[in-house]
Amino acid sequence: MIVGVPKEIYPGERRVALTPAVVPMLAKAGLEVAIEAGAGTSAGYPDAQYQEKGAKVLPDRASVFAQSDIVVQVLGHGANDKNGASDLSLMRHGQLLVAFLRPLASAETVQQIAQTGATAFSVELMPRTTRAQSMDALSAMASIAGYKAVVAVADALPRIFPMMTTAAGTITPSRVLVIGAGVAGLQAIATAKRLGAVVSAYDVRPAVKEQVQSLGGRFVELPLETGDAQDARGYAKAQDEAFYAKQRELLGKVIADSDAVITTAVVPGKKAPVLVTEVMVKGMAPGSVILDLAAERGGNCELTHPGETVVVHGVTILGPVNLAGTAPYHSSQMYARNLTSFLTNLVKDGKVRPPESDEIIRETLLTQGGEVVNARVREMLGLPALVAQS
Ligand code: NAD
Repeated sequence: MIVGVPKEIYPGERRVALTPAVVPMLAKAGLEVAIEAGAGTSAGYPDAQYQEKGAKVLPDRASVFAQSDIVVQVLGHGANDKNGASDLSLMRHGQLLVAFLRPLASAETVQQIAQTGATAFSVELMPRTTRAQSMDALSAMASIAGYKAVVAVADALPRIFPMMTTAAGTITPSRVLVIGAGVAGLQAIATAKRLGAVVSAYDVRPAVKEQVQSLGGRFVELPLETGDAQDARGYAKAQDEAFYAKQRELLGKVIADSDAVITTAVVPGKKAPVLVTEVMVKGMAPGSVILDLAAERGGNCELTHPGETVVVHGVTILGPVNLAGTAPYHSSQMYARNLTSFLTNLVKDGKVRPPESDEIIRETLLTQGGEVVNARVREMLGLPALVAQS
């Protein structure tokens, strides 16, 4: 079977779905790689490296789609909301597609993918089980984004992070607050600690307290009822507006005492909760920095402009939309490993395993035979349930 890698077309996207290192691993599983010329160049992987590892280089996008049994992408249609639709006419019935497809965002885009007849798997739907950990692209990208968020904040802050005792006096360390201590948040805590900041963190899920503390962060406890903050899949549950209002009130003072705030709070399939209001921004010292990692999902700060940096009331607010993509060498390396684990589980002895045989295949399967077949996605997008076929 041929696994095809088209070049990413989202404007400014530098990642690539497979790297040369995974080509032999896929070959062992009977999967041959065909890559569009130049697909890996901006991530630091020239065509020659793919060829050395046994991949075929094809001249254009149309040939990659035409010759592949399985197409793998970073941002597929849906996740690529700029020009991803241009791939729809290249997909064909029965062809497999594995990519970020943003399945819970729009019923229209998932239905458009379904209409091509492709069998599409969305990496966002990966179950959070031990076996699926090596395939978990959301976690891989979140780790890089958490690290990069701190690097960006350190750069934007008019202060340095560490304490410094010099002949010219002593500098006190910067105080960094991380709101949302999931995968990205924990990586941000660890990175800010390494740079010498005093780090505190808050999350609605009390279960993360020990993880924050083990990284040397202080866990901010707010007197909020958070008993059922976590769902069975380990994600935060959406709360009502009264809860968020109380949370904002309690967070105000902690935010005012911080030099930098990194927010990462999201709830799957929902707009990110607003946790930092304009009044709270006003309460921060001039020169403070907020980096809103939830910018893409509507933002945790009400002044965030996705994809932009704004200065309001003397506070710099960064709303980056694709931080993982700014470290394309390593984010591609991690994503390629995620896909390789996924593909070698999906295809055994040259045959695609049926979804009934495996939880990972079943849960990530989004479209098949012209239909959106994922029950969770149908429910969240308000599509009627499919009638079970016996
Ligand atoms: P996420 O990206 O969905 O959310 C980021 C964080 O924001 C979460 O920790 C969430 O609790 C928090 N949050 C949501 N609403 C909030 C609010 N109002 N105030 C403060 N914080 C809020 O989550 P994630 O980073 O993808 O991971 C969530 C959990 O799942 C983590 O504990 C992670 O360790 C776990 N996980 C497990 C596996 C696995 O077992 N295979 C894989 C990945 C993640």
